[in-house]
Amino acid sequence: MDDLEGLLKGQKIAYFSMEVGLVNEIPTYAGGLGILAGDTIRSSADLRIPLVAVTLVSKKGFFRQELTPKGEQIEHSQDWDPSKYMRLLPHEVSVHIQGREVKVKAWLYTLKSVTGGVVPVLFLDTDVEGNTAEDREITFYLYGGDQKYRVKQEVVLGIGGVRLLDALGFKIRKYHINEGHASFLALELLHKYAMDVEKVRELCVFTTHTPVESGHDKFSYELVREILDGTTDMSALKRFGGADHLNMTLLALNLSNYVNGVAERHREVSSRMFAGYEIHAITNGIHSYMWTGESYRKLYDKYLPGWANEPELLARVADGIPNEEIWQAHKEQKVRLIDYVNEWTKAGLSYDVFTLGFARRATEYKRARLLFSDIGRLKKINKKGKFQLIFAGKAHPRDLQGKKLIEDLFGYANQLKPDIKMVYLENYDIAMATKLVSGVDVWLNTPLKPLEASGTSGMKAAHNGVLNFSVLDGWWLEGWIEGVTGWSIGPPPEEGLDSQETYQKELEDLYNKLEYVIIPMFYNRRDDWVRMMKKSIGKVAYYFNSHRMMRRYVTEAYL
Ligand SMILES: *Cc1c(COP(=O)(O)O)cnc(C)c1O
Repeated sequence: MDDLEGLLKGQKIAYFSMEVGLVNEIPTYAGGLGILAGDTIRSSADLRIPLVAVTLVSKKGFFRQELTPKGEQIEHSQDWDPSKYMRLLPHEVSVHIQGREVKVKAWLYTLKSVTGGVVPVLFLDTDVEGNTAEDREITFYLYGGDQKYRVKQEVVLGIGGVRLLDALGFKIRKYHINEGHASFLALELLHKYAMDVEKVRELCVFTTHTPVESGHDKFSYELVREILDGTTDMSALKRFGGADHLNMTLLALNLSNYVNGVAERHREVSSRMFAGYEIHAITNGIHSYMWTGESYRKLYDKYLPGWANEPELLARVADGIPNEEIWQAHKEQKVRLIDYVNEWTKAGLSYDVFTLGFARRATEYKRARLLFSDIGRLKKINKKGKFQLIFAGKAHPRDLQGKKLIEDLFGYANQLKPDIKMVYLENYDIAMATKLVSGVDVWLNTPLKPLEASGTSGMKAAHNGVLNFSVLDGWWLEGWIEGVTGWSIGPPPEEGLDSQETYQKELEDLYNKLEYVIIPMFYNRRDDWVRMMKKSIGKVAYYFNSHRMMRRYVTEAYL
């Protein structure tokens, strides 16, 4: 099948990520982190960046979401068959877990770009003959199980991954730790290079994604000792990973020469959280071609050939493409979305009604409830200018608040009846995301500041001329130009308002802008609207893409 010899040529960047979202059929991602990893790999292949990616095979996926008529989430496992997409390599390494030698193998997936670039992706698997039944399950469930299960997974990813790359014969120039889940790789490198800390730091690049203390992976040393049992230098681990418990973020921070936050704002927040570390900010991006709908792809191909591998060309949209064609492409993509929604939900959404979209992981800080703070006001707004709502998102199986959130949203949908149509789509995934971000009119984002490290779905929307209406957090602080690329909800961080004042301002903006600015412009000033769509593409999409992001990683972190 794929020639491993060919893939081994030259030195590589080894990109480690617990989750990777490559294609819809391979359910080894849970949200933005995995999508980012997928886009990183896709852009690397397009740009012929010598990268090899390492992740877990997660044979039972994350989960498939079923929703009852009341919005209760039922989780199904997503068994998938790696052999349909990749090849099991004969090479085998082992990692030490609870005194056992656990065997690790890898599936080789090769992502090929039309440019001729190829990125191998290794999906680590412990479901290997000779392992105990329990150890075979380590690579079954993405983010499943308890703390102990998680440590085992991270040992397989970090330690097993480094060993497997060696066994296969890859020559590695840098190891990129994508979020703390993969930090054990630095520990393995310490052992490999006889505790030469400078050497290890020279080799490691770390991207942190979490702006809250509680979001970082932390394990008790008792647990770590039980798992790694005498095979690791615990005093070194404590020196780099924290005295009281093992903080995987700290471990990576201390053992990486280049540390990156995922947006300017996230760099500021992280620098405060981890004083004394130099943190950079290569702001996230998304893969332009992957996230651009069919009609816009055609339009860009016609007017800006080469845009897919040089998204900078999108800056010329405003001068180059007639307004009617921008609107026509949007209408086509909207029709495809509405047809899809109506087919699945029988909700009877209409093509001509202003459509707001909101889809992301259903978790508290994303604040999906904010729009429904005043149902009466929503009905009043709808009387002046009709709108409809499309929501989607999975709650982590152990996130009870997240599940309750979905039920509440089902409740709001009922309260809005019959005036306002609202759907909550089941089982948000890559395929659905593609349709949503390319077919709604406005993409809504209401996270609690400063908890959105970057966010990426709004960048996908911008590639499709969909306007962003968002809280000023994460990437939007860099992409936002009021009334030009979209609209803000609430004050910018530098106003320094307390949380109650901020909340009040957010609510005012949310309702006032919808009622007096956004919906009236959509219905009555179509030319102005289309001009904004073009500005959004030209000033957001040209920059917030993973080609720009990867070029920066190459010149600032990898070289
Ligand atoms: C882009 C994407 C995300 C991330 O969305 P955010 O709004 O940035 O949190 C999550 N899930 C899927 C399926 C996506 O495509």
